[in-house]
Amino acid sequence: VTVRADSSSKRDKGRRLDPSLLSTGRSLGSGSFGECYQGSLQDPETREDVPVVLKRVRARVAGAEEMHEAEHLINVLANKAAGEAVAPFLGYALVETPVGRLTKGLWLVWEYEGDKTLAYYLKRRDMERCLAADLGVDEEVAVATAMKQIFECLVALHKVGIIHRDIKPANIVFDERRRRFRLIDLGAAACLRTGTNYKPLETILDPCYCPPEEYVLPTDAPHLGDAGTRLRTVMTPLLWSQHKPDCFDTYSAGVVLMQLSLPFLRTTSSLRTFNGALARCNHDLEEWRGRSGLPARQTAILDANDGAGWDLAANLLRPRRVVTDGDGGVKFLDTGKAPRLTASQALKHAFVRSAGGARPKVAA
Ligand code: ADP
Ligand code: MG
Repeated sequence: VTVRADSSSKRDKGRRLDPSLLSTGRSLGSGSFGECYQGSLQDPETREDVPVVLKRVRARVAGAEEMHEAEHLINVLANKAAGEAVAPFLGYALVETPVGRLTKGLWLVWEYEGDKTLAYYLKRRDMERCLAADLGVDEEVAVATAMKQIFECLVALHKVGIIHRDIKPANIVFDERRRRFRLIDLGAAACLRTGTNYKPLETILDPCYCPPEEYVLPTDAPHLGDAGTRLRTVMTPLLWSQHKPDCFDTYSAGVVLMQLSLPFLRTTSSLRTFNGALARCNHDLEEWRGRSGLPARQTAILDANDGAGWDLAANLLRPRRVVTDGDGGVKFLDTGKAPRLTASQALKHAFVRSAGGARPKVAA
């Protein structure tokens, strides 16, 4: 028996789909890195149309091609290892001859989960009621339940070495069939185990949800992307325990918790103002709270259960480490304070536990 080094994860691209089985419908937006459509995929055997999401890179954007490739590989990895956490990746299609909106290039295809992302709920005045109805839980625990599901998704991704890096309401989709939230858009995700899409100096982030340290690992940490598989097997766990790269995502989740809890934080401009104010308080949420003079009627979700929400948010929004700016590099230094919570620690927090353990019924 010959045992070969396993490089299959690098090459595994998932199922290749025949472009003639795909059709595009309404646009789901075109971010700076791609174009996204709702559409359908015809099952070659049953001939039934399955609702899907199709995404293609916009070739004009410098660097986007490579990111798209990375998004492809990360989706294969995430689906295999953390399938519950992300929208099911159905495969890819290489379009040679354009047909309508299916322009030439590489298309990635996912199962269509439903019309609502968390951004949709945040826009609604009756957010808690909507969220509770869709999740199948009581209104009082709607936010806690949504946060619980987000943390469960993060735990699953982090367990296999993937940092999402773009956690925000538009990238958290409500899976209508299973009645739960899942993560989408792995375009900025990095896998520290395989080195996929991990470049130490690269930041491709939404500033509204980005933690103050900005990087997954200190910029002077050994380069995981360049390291061979064997070296990474040793390095990744070491770097992980030393720097907690997963806490990049839990900061973003902390911002999401604040938006879900405080109605006035649901617009981009108010979120920007909040981020600036929090930074001026050295990311001490208690201090921000003291200065903000918020009326009690706005803070009910965070106040409940002896202020459990405030405590969770404060422990997610802490600086991971103090950021120093010596030679243009970023170092993470210990602040001496309690560290930012990981996703699995957050799941054990009283606020999240108030959601209870019952899983909503899955619609037939
Ligand atoms: P972008 O790189 O443009 O941000 P996303 O992967 O975030 O691309 O997709 C854009 C939008 O399309 C999402 O915000 C969401 O509204 C919708 N979307 C993406 N994937 C799915 C999915 N699997 N099911 C339902 N809607 C989706
Ligand atoms: Mg997105």
